[in-house]
This record gives sequence, C-alpha cells and structure tokens, in this order.
Amino acid sequence: METLRQSIIHDYFANNNLPDGPVTKKVSSYFGENVFDLKKAREFLSDEAFKSLVSSIRSQTKIDRKMGDQIASALKNWAETKGVTHYTHWFQPLTGATAEKHDSFFTLKGDRTAIEEFDGATLIQQEPDASSFPSGGLRATFEARGYTAWDPSSPPFIIEMRNGKTLCIPTIFVSYTGESLDAKTPLLRSKVALEKAAVDVCQYFDKNITSVIPTLGWEQEYFVIDASIASTRPDLLMTGRTVFGHAPAKGQQLEDHYFGAIPERVYAFMRDFEEEAYKLGIPLKTRHNEVAPCQFECAPIYEEVNLAVDHNILLMDLMTRVAKNHKLRVLLHEKPFAKVNGSGKHNNWSLATNTGVNLLAPGKTPKTNLMFLAFFVNTIKAVNDNSDLLRASIASAGNDHRLGGNEAPPAIISIFIGQYLTDVLSEIEKRVSDKFDEQDEAMLKLDIHKSIPELLLDNTDRNRTSPFAFTGNKFEFRAVGASANCAVPMTVLNTIMADTLVNFKSQVDALIEAGEKKEIAILHVVQKFIIESKSILFEGDGYSDAWEKEAEKRRLGNIKTTPLALDLMVSEKAEQLYSRHHIFSKNELEARHEVLLENYIKKIQIESRIIGEMSGTYILPAAIKYQNVLIKNIKGLKELGIDENGISAQKQILLKISEHVNAINKNVKLMIEARKKANIIENSRERALAYCDQIKPFFDNIRYHADKLELIVDDQFWQLPKYREILSLR
Ligand code: ADP
Ligand code: MG
Repeated sequence: METLRQSIIHDYFANNNLPDGPVTKKVSSYFGENVFDLKKAREFLSDEAFKSLVSSIRSQTKIDRKMGDQIASALKNWAETKGVTHYTHWFQPLTGATAEKHDSFFTLKGDRTAIEEFDGATLIQQEPDASSFPSGGLRATFEARGYTAWDPSSPPFIIEMRNGKTLCIPTIFVSYTGESLDAKTPLLRSKVALEKAAVDVCQYFDKNITSVIPTLGWEQEYFVIDASIASTRPDLLMTGRTVFGHAPAKGQQLEDHYFGAIPERVYAFMRDFEEEAYKLGIPLKTRHNEVAPCQFECAPIYEEVNLAVDHNILLMDLMTRVAKNHKLRVLLHEKPFAKVNGSGKHNNWSLATNTGVNLLAPGKTPKTNLMFLAFFVNTIKAVNDNSDLLRASIASAGNDHRLGGNEAPPAIISIFIGQYLTDVLSEIEKRVSDKFDEQDEAMLKLDIHKSIPELLLDNTDRNRTSPFAFTGNKFEFRAVGASANCAVPMTVLNTIMADTLVNFKSQVDALIEAGEKKEIAILHVVQKFIIESKSILFEGDGYSDAWEKEAEKRRLGNIKTTPLALDLMVSEKAEQLYSRHHIFSKNELEARHEVLLENYIKKIQIESRIIGEMSGTYILPAAIKYQNVLIKNIKGLKELGIDENGISAQKQILLKISEHVNAINKNVKLMIEARKKANIIENSRERALAYCDQIKPFFDNIRYHADKLELIVDDQFWQLPKYREILSLR
C-alpha cells in the first residue's frame, strides 16, 4: 500500500499543471494603484484637506476632526471606485504578525435606510477588542482597551482577496494610558529623536538641512516548497521548521543553486506576488536564488524607514497568501532545515537629508566629506557603545539557530568598513594632533576628499561574514532574522545614533566654545570617537573560531541564546537611553521584555511538543514496523536452518534500531519531565532560561537518533517526506 508520503510525491512529480504568473505589463503602468498616495489624495481632496494631510505627514501632527471627516470621506470614495466594501485599521502588535479587524462601510440610518459611511472619527481612532494581544501586563485583560490610531505617514492601501477588497489604514496601537503595544510606535518615536539630533549636527555643515530621515532597504530571504509536501510534515505546519530530517546526499555543497536559473514554478509565483506588491506600491527591484536549495531572495528599492517596514510586513503576508494559489508554501523561518543555510533579512540603513544628500555617502568636496566622516564615525561609535542593544533587537528563538551556526553573522556584533576606510580612520587617529596646524588640516581634508570616492568602485573585498558592514553608501545590518519585523532593530539603530549624535554635538560645541575652529573641533571629536570605538572594527572572517577568541579578548559580547540576549534590553543603561529619547518608558520596556520572553517560551514549548508527538507517532512506529519485518526474516532464516553467520546482519540492524528507539523513548520522557518542571516556574525569565537550557538540549539529542533511523528504516515505512523530496522543487 502506498503511504500518504509516497502518493503525494508521486502526484508531485507527475503533475505539471501549475498556474502561470500574470501577463507581463509595464510596472510603471500600475505601480501603486491600490495605494491612496499623495497623487490620489490630491485628486480626491479639497485644497484645504490636502494641505492638512501633507502637513500632518511632514510634522507628524494630529489631523483635526473636521479635516478627518473630509479625508475619510475622500478615502471611502476612492476605495469604492475600486470595489472596496470594508475597511480595517491595520497594525503590528507585539506578536510579530499584523492584525486587522474588518468593518463594513455599510450602516443604517435612523429610518433604516442602508448607506455607506466612513467618518473622521473612525479613520483616526478605533478601539479593537484587543484583550488577546500581548501587552506584557501593560493592559490588564479585564480592561481590554487598546487603541489604534491612524499613522498618516504610511498611506492607506487596498488588500485584494479573491472574494473581496478591504481598505487598510496603517495605525499605531497603544494602551488606554498611551503606552505603546506595537512595533510601529517606538519606531516613529525613534525617527523623531534621530531627526532632531542629525539635523543639529548637519547644521555645522549646511544650514539648508532642516530634515533628516532614516532610509531602509531590506533584503528578504525565504524558502519555497511544495504545499502538499509541506502538509504532510506536522513540524513545518506547526513551527515553520523541520525538527527531524537527515541532510540529503546532495545538499548545497555544489552551490549550483546560487544565482542559477529560477525554477519554473517559483518563477510564476514570484511574478504573481511581485505584481501584487507593485499594486501596493512596494518597489521590488531584485530577485534571485540563494545559496541553499529552494532558497530565494527579493529586495526593493530603499524607502523611508517607516514605509519600508510596513512594506516588508505586507510583503511577507502577501507572499504567504499568493503562494497558496500556486500550491506552494513560503517558509520565513530563520532555520527551516538543519545543515542547510538559514534565512536572514539584511537591513540596509542610511540617512537622507531634505537637500537630497545621503549622509553615509562619501562627498565630492572637502566640506561634504567631513560631514560624511562625522556621520560615518558616529555610526561606528553608536554601534560600539550599544552593541548589546543591537544584539537584543535581533534575538528570537528562530534566529538563535543562525547566530550560533557557522553560516550567518555570529552573535558577536562587529563592524566591517573595508581596507580603505580603515586606513582613513587610522590616518585621522595618527594625524590629528593637539596642535593641529593649518597645513595638516588642508592635507587631511584633501586626502580624504581625493580617495574616498574610489571606495565606491572597490566592492571586491566585501566581507559577507560581518554582522554590520559598510557597503559604500549605507550600513548593512545582516544579523536580522528572516521573519523579524525590521521595526525592532531599526528603532534601536535610530535611537543609538540619535544618542551618539547628541553626545558628538555637545563635545564639538565645547571645543568650539574653548576657541577651536569648527572644522578642527569636529575632527578632534571624530578622532576621539575613532579611538574609543576601535575594538568593534573587524575585517576578518566572522565565522572563524579565531574571531571568537579575539572578540573575547576585546571584551565584545557573544551571547548565543535569546533569554540572555533579552536581558540586555532592560539593563539600567538601556532604560536610561530609551527614556532619554522618549522611545520607551521603563514600564513599556519591561512589558516588551515580558512579551518577548513569553513568545520565546511558547515557541520552544510548541517545538518540544511536536518533537514528542512526532517521535511517538511517526518515528518510533516506522522503526518498529521495520523491526517486525526483520524479526520475521530472522525467524524464517532460522527455520530454514541458516546459521548465525547468515542472520548476523539482520540482527545487527535490529539491535541498532532498538538502540535508537530506546534513546528516543528515554529522551522524550525526560524532555516531558523537564517541561513539567519548567512550566511551574513563575518568573518568565527563569522559565525562558529553563526552556533554553533544560528542554532545548533534548531537541538535538532526539533528532540525532531519529535522523539515524531515517537512514536505516525501509523507505516504504517512512511517512515523513525526506529533505531530498522537500527540497526538490523545480
Ligand atoms: P547587495 O547588498 O545585495 O549587493 P545592493 O547594494 O544593491 O545589494 O542593495 C541592497 C539594498 O540596499 C537594496 O534594498 C537597496 O535599495 C538598499 N540601499 C541602497 N542604498 C540605500 C540607502 N541609501 N539607504 C538604505 N538602503 C539602501
Ligand atoms: Mg546585501
């Protein structure tokens, strides 16, 4: 009899009737058609309302009730031309997913006449029944009030499902008492802090700079597998990763997948989700295969950070949804397959001014180069002083698999800047002396000016093993996990940069006050920052053991697990930094910490349960069935009078299976015991640590024996699709 696995694999290889992607159209002809952008606002709004909208976007101020009514009604009119019947406040609760609660425009008037209505009050604020979103205790559940409030800086958009369209209004999510309960609120706060600090520093160089915004271009890695095959793996369905599975004979050793031709089925899927993305104004630019089989990447043109974050979250939803139409499944987990590369999400970050300057791009004149140097060195100093906060910002159960393994940036935060800039910095360190004379000044400036642009041409020595790398005109934070909300690390990066710039400015101002020339004062503080943050710079192989040792000497943090990494976000120092810049109050910070710990515990708990269940219902039964075959065979051979010699192989296999069966059985029992103990621990940090140190170690142990069995047991008894089948998408 064919097993479910076998029949699915049969169908899979027999069936080539797969949906096509969309017909090719010029992207510019429909880009952003489902977004209420300023162009559409202009068309649908009165002058007055349009001005009010624009000014509230620019200055992040509230829109008054009257204008709100006008904007709401225009939004509804626009949405109705597109066949929209419902609207929702779209927000990013701390669960990591997005949330929506759909309401109809439809309502009844006093005389029961049916009309469609959408007013300012409903646009601006809603009170979703939020009792089950995590709040880390900020919002006692009996008092289920949380508010979503419109964020005009991210434009409303329409989500099209097969059976209807919904107007989505990006919102923040806060508690009754105004504490943030989402990922977006702190991000917006960090933008405000950074803008103020950056503009203040820019004023040294250019009085016309009155606004600075952080920009983000993310690179999203993901796996795509066949949906039917995925449906027969309870682990993939429940946890997003495989908890069992032996590495295939041919994995990624040949690296023939990287930048190879994209498989036909995946290509159709990509075209399809790209089209949906373009309609939503997500400016996707590149797509390609990644290193691992069935692994891919896409990246957009960078945008202002808040919009870029929304677009990434939207895209993850979109990919997951569109994949279903193609009978595919997208895996955004950081480590879906053991011994196969995991997935990350590089966050390319920079700062853009209202004058059109990228502050992290080397300039063309001595003056702009000094501005570049100041921002460049401030970033290095920010990361050096706050690498603990960056580490905490990327901590998750999924990302632990990457940061610990030898394929992704290590858990040690360091910065790569390339040979040329390393030389420039050491030059400044040596050259700028206390008695800085005019000649030095001229020469130093000239040197920098002449040579920095060459760096842009020199992309050859890019170091792929660095968690934080300068790549010519931006920094790239590479340790972010594939499933993460970029808002979290971006909030940290913006905040620590703001803090460092404030510090920078106060030191420069002090020197100027003491009589130093502005440029020289700036160079002196730049020099000081270089000296203070030298130990974070590392150009070598971040995957090597030598680096771990060296990093320890340099006293750089190397925390490999989530519960401990999360400690860093609630340190005394973190608390002060966040409250100084009005990002998180102490309460908010602790609540967030609590939510993240609970989230970690739940993830590990679910994995542990799945491992126990699959051991008992898939792995052991397959092994025992095969043992029965062997027993029958041995008995038969004996009946025929075959001697010990003739049955020794069968016996050996039989015993080997017993060994693994016993080990699995014993360890699953012990794991369950450990879980019982952990579950009664009151304190969530202690409980998270118990899950990490007492329960998780069983995973690898049980898996080791199960994966051995996979190689021994008769293939026809093995119910779980094997790696070679899961990763064979064409
Ligand atoms: P790679 O790092 O794979 O070589 P690129 O350097 O072309 O690729 O860019 C990667 C990402 O960096 C893209 O999403 C791109 O939009 C983004 N990027 C480029 N310039 C900036 C910038 N100034 N600010 C933020 N992101 C940027
Ligand atoms: Mg990159």
